[in-house]
Amino acid sequence: MSEPVVAVSGLTKHFPVRRGFLQRQVATVRAVDGVTLSIAPGETLCLVGESGCGKSTVGRLILRLMQSTAGTIHLRGTDVTHLGDAAMRPHRRHAQMVFQDPYSSLNPRLTVGTIVAEPLENYGDLNAAGRTEKVAALLDRVGLRADAMRRYAFEFSGGQRQRLGIARALALDPGLIVADEAVSALDVSVQAQVLNLLMDLQEERNIAYLFISHDLGVVEHIGHRIAVMYLGEIVEIAPKSALFATPLHPYTQALIAAAPIADPRARSERIVLEGDLPSPMNPPAGCRFHTRCPVAIARCRSEAPVLRVRHEGHAVACHLIG
Ligand code: SF4
Repeated sequence: MSEPVVAVSGLTKHFPVRRGFLQRQVATVRAVDGVTLSIAPGETLCLVGESGCGKSTVGRLILRLMQSTAGTIHLRGTDVTHLGDAAMRPHRRHAQMVFQDPYSSLNPRLTVGTIVAEPLENYGDLNAAGRTEKVAALLDRVGLRADAMRRYAFEFSGGQRQRLGIARALALDPGLIVADEAVSALDVSVQAQVLNLLMDLQEERNIAYLFISHDLGVVEHIGHRIAVMYLGEIVEIAPKSALFATPLHPYTQALIAAAPIADPRARSERIVLEGDLPSPMNPPAGCRFHTRCPVAIARCRSEAPVLRVRHEGHAVACHLIG
């Protein structure tokens, strides 16, 4: 098996909450707690969960846009967890990001040509003519005309802007793209086009995606494996077909049951997830899901379940799964 493009182990991010004149730490937000995952070249791992579960923080930690509290991050076999800016620089070009909001992630004062060429200027070794040629090829590849170079991002529709964001992310030929809710702001028909473009690009370039989304329909379309997060922890991870056919964790079952479905007869089997996501400042003891779990037992209130592989590539953290 080829070396993973990214492998993280025990990844943890705690944010101190400070108050008062002396800015004393009064609490800790446990945004990410002990996440372990890896992604192979050409693979899409989707990270799903409710808003506030820590999935976006995982993406930002992997790209070293913030420093982790504990755990390790390996990019293409190199431990980058504690690298400084200069040492991190060669690794940054191999790991890029596509943001959620194509409206605010592109500078309205710059032409599209400048926006897409920016990473090439910062990290690449092409001269001006080479950069222009590469930008034209990238725009063409994402389905935009080369004359887009002279226009401004606000002149484009949401879907076109997301194509611009993808062109910019591709500029340095990365091995990994973290796509954080990359299609959530788009209309459904445009979503499908952008997802198909991402899948085609993956096939051509063997790119690994960490695809962060709250939308199970989108994840089912693009994912190879799915990791489900709840309150900063992965509670289930499995190949897509196994996760949708036999979800094992009660939280995954509730998420799938709550997703929009085409067949109204299936509604009678739906599990309704009650209550809000508890605060990551004060996560419940034992299994963090026990306050909302419809099948919790006494043990769940005191003992945290361990994420264990139960079948081939299918791991779950639940006391009831043997
Ligand atoms: Fe529910 Fe207990 Fe399993 Fe947690 S460990 S998901 S509370 S049954």
